[in-house]
Parts: sequence; C-alpha cells; structure tokens
Amino acid sequence: NEDQFKKVISHAKEYGYVFQSSEIYDGLSAVYDYAQNGVELKNNIREYWWKAMVQMHDNIVGIDAAIFMHPTTWKASGHVDAFNDPLIDNKDSKKRYRADVLVEDYVGKLDAKIEKEVAKAAKRFGDAFDKEQFVNTNPRVVGYKEKGEAILKRLGQSLEKEDLADVKALIEELEIACPESGSRNWTDVKQFNLMFGTKLGASADSAMDLYLRPETAQGIFVNFLNVQKTGRMKIPFGIAQTGKAFRNEIVARQFIFRMREFEQMEMQYFIKPGTQKEWYETWKETRLKWHLSLGMGEDNYRFHDHEKLAHYADAAADIEFRFPFGFKELEGIHSRTDFDLSQHEEYSGKKLRYFDPETNESYVPYVLETSIGLDRMFLAVFSKSLKEETLEDGSERTVLALPAVLAPTKAAVLPLIKRDGLPEVAKKLVEELKWDFNVAYDEKDAVGRRYRRQDAAGTPFCITVDHQTLEDETVTIRHRDTMEQQRVKISEVREIIKKEVDM
Ligand code: ATP
Repeated sequence: NEDQFKKVISHAKEYGYVFQSSEIYDGLSAVYDYAQNGVELKNNIREYWWKAMVQMHDNIVGIDAAIFMHPTTWKASGHVDAFNDPLIDNKDSKKRYRADVLVEDYVGKLDAKIEKEVAKAAKRFGDAFDKEQFVNTNPRVVGYKEKGEAILKRLGQSLEKEDLADVKALIEELEIACPESGSRNWTDVKQFNLMFGTKLGASADSAMDLYLRPETAQGIFVNFLNVQKTGRMKIPFGIAQTGKAFRNEIVARQFIFRMREFEQMEMQYFIKPGTQKEWYETWKETRLKWHLSLGMGEDNYRFHDHEKLAHYADAAADIEFRFPFGFKELEGIHSRTDFDLSQHEEYSGKKLRYFDPETNESYVPYVLETSIGLDRMFLAVFSKSLKEETLEDGSERTVLALPAVLAPTKAAVLPLIKRDGLPEVAKKLVEELKWDFNVAYDEKDAVGRRYRRQDAAGTPFCITVDHQTLEDETVTIRHRDTMEQQRVKISEVREIIKKEVDM
C-alpha cells in the first residue's frame, strides 16, 4: 500500500541506499543514484545473478557490449519503427500517461478487490478455507477475474492492431479518471518512441545520429557469431550481459520501478529451431527457482503469460512480484524466434548462421531470452525486506531483513563500551574479517541502539566484544532476524558468518 511504499522510499534515502539524482537541483525525474549501501546491494544482486547464470552453466558465457551501437542496429531490431508506448493526455490536468498503464492499473484494482475477498473468506472459514476453490466459485471473485481478463485481452488486441481509437474507447468505457484530478477529459491516444537520441562526432555535417541502447539484448545478437566462433560454442548455448539501458519513459513514477536510465541483466539462449517450447518452459522454471532461492516467499511471485506479444516474440511470460503497489513485472522470459538474427542478416548483409557439425546443416538459431531489471530486483528485495516489528516487550523495531547473501555489510563489530581495551580487540577483529566480507565498526551510543541501527541498515550479524572476551577470547554473535545471541570463540567467527553470506 501507499504508506508502506512511502516508508520504503524514505528508508532507502535515510540509510544510504538510493538518492534522487542531482537532488540539490531538485532532482531529475525518474533518475536515481545508488548510495554507499545501495551500490553494495546492487553489486551483490548482479553478482548473485551472474554466478547463477554464467558460473553455474558451462554453456553460458558473458560479454560487456558498448552502450553505443551502429544506428542500423535499431532499424533492424524494429526499435525505430515499433518501440513505442501509447500516450494519452488529460486535457484538464495537462498530465501525460501511458494509456496501457492506466488500463492495467484499473485491472490491478480488481485484483486488489479479489485479494480482499480472499482475505475476508480466509478469516471466516479458518482452517477449512480452500483458496483455490473459493477463487474459482465465488461469484463476486469470478466476476472480477473475468472482467479483468476481458479488459486485458481487449487492450492487447487493440495495441496489436494499433487500434489506438479503441484504447481510448476502453478508457472511456471503464470511466478511468486522471489519478491526480479525477478528470475524465482525455485526448486521443498517440504513439511515442522511447529511444533517446544523441550524436557521435564533432563536425555538424559528419555527425552521426545515434541512440542510447533501450535494451542490452542487441549487443548480444550482433556479437553472436564472434562469441560462437571464438568460444567454440555448440548450440544450445547462452550469452549473458548486464549493463545500462535507457528509455524515455512516459510514466516516470514509482521510484526505481520505472527509470529513464536503468540496468538490465539479460541472457540470450541460442537454440535449434523447433525446440523453443521446451526451452521456454525450462527457463521459466529455472528463473523462478532463482527468485525463490532468496527466500522471499513463494506467494510473492506469479507468472503472467502474455496475450499481446511484442513484434519479435512467439511466446512471452513475466515473472511478477508483489511490490508495495501490487503485482508487477519483475522479469520477462521471451521466445524471440529467429527474428533478431534474421533481421541483422538482412540489414548487415552478413550471414549469422550456426553450422551444426552433427547434422552438417546450417541455420539461423532461435533465441530464448531472460531479461530482468537490476533496479527493479533491487526494489523487490528492498521493499520485501523492510519490516516494522512489535517485540514481546511492546517496543517497536525497524528491520531491513535482506537475504544475508545480498546484504551490503555482513557484520558489525561492536565493543560493548568504549574503554577497558574493548575497542582495540574489536578493531583487530575488523581488520581480520575485512579480507572476507564487508564489516563495519561502531562504538557510538548504547549497544541496544547500535543493534537497532544495524537492524535498520540491513546488517545480518552483530559481533559484540565484552569483558568476557578479554578473559576467554569469546564474543557474542547476534542474529538480526531472530535477535538471538550465541557465544562463540573469536577464531570461529569468520567461518560461522561466511557460511551464511557466501553465494
Ligand atoms: P514494462 O512493461 O514494465 O515497461 P517491458 O515489458 O517494457 O517493461 P522489457 O523490455 O521486457 O520490459 O525489459 C525487461 C526488464 O527490464 C523488465 O522486466 C524490467 O525488470 C526491466 N525494465 C524495463 N524497463 C524499465 C525501466 N524503465 N526501469 C527499470 N527497469 C525496467
């Protein structure tokens, strides 16, 4: 809900995770900077993805292609002609929206109504509650569901046919109002290209018009044959990449969910034509498992199979996540056929074929793609981890229960008090541990307050040095989520923590 989302945004700033870009100049809309803790969390998410995709698959390799690409790339890929969003203005408020997002938000409200009915019924029926049966038979819920599906289907069909008048008609029929002013006075729907243009070269007549890449995928397609040959890759194989992408988004709200400059983590898997259905299912499953491995709750994910397919795809699904503002796309799994490679063959005049040594055939491979926004993943992890808890003694605490493998700082070392030689012992421990992971040292304020500070910053372990340490070389390790403390030998600390935080 909205309050929780506001807390997420203010917590991200207060604890050094995300700042508005150019804040002293009042910021730049939908552009954000990652702060001292944010950059660590972001790096860790990227590494967690890279290890799972590249290190753990012996047939997937990585590249890092340039952001600038030859401009013909974007003609071939279809982005010059078709990378558009349907835009609509409200005549009274002069605000601009994405027409499809307005409709999707309307359907999101129906989803919220369904969830409310389910929660009510679960309370009423207690243990006997069968959610699936309820959702499939309760007339009100079935009504909402059918209505939502019909709306999305019509939206998909109108967009596919480029029937923008029907998109407007849909908005009017649903009586969708401008969120700010409540006005229903809409303009016609227009298409708007999302690519940012720029120029390469200094002299006016020889300067070349370029685009900032709106997706990382094309850097992989144009390098497909280079990688295949130099890496002697055999199909099926994958190429993975993480990097910045740029889109001049119309609706730039919802914090780092939708940014104008963002980072993608993509993998294109090159396969034999005809095998795309199997690989589509395999990668859907593989990617969902990756998400679940972080332990953020199975209920917070769902698949959404696309009705409306992009110009390059023969099947597509999103992995949606329960963000504070509802279920939204976190990752896309797309069966891209041979669209991209064939287009690049045509536009470049170069063959982009794979020669299969077993069958002696050559063909343009099909591509299965997994594409996730790093910033969106950051928001998913951060928002799901932020919790307000009421403790047994009635006091409250704020805890950022980040998965330990992703936490920016793995442990804080705290001398119980600032004298008697405790700080020296604590600092020595910091010096030892910092070779293996990020550690913080904190000696300011009472130890209880320091624990709370580390809880809110997301640090999974606090190591406290006290007077007993001086006698028997033991310390306490306090676990952020359970607040339990265990007494262990100093010599064991590294291994205990490494076991929890190593990827
Ligand atoms: P949406 O429908 O939300 O605009 P999309 O379907 O255009 O997203 P893709 O082109 O499939 O997104 O991009 C793959 C992934 O990149 C998305 O699942 C999302 O996580 C991320 N992404 C796309 N656009 C943005 C953006 N403007 N800001 C942050 N992340 C983004």
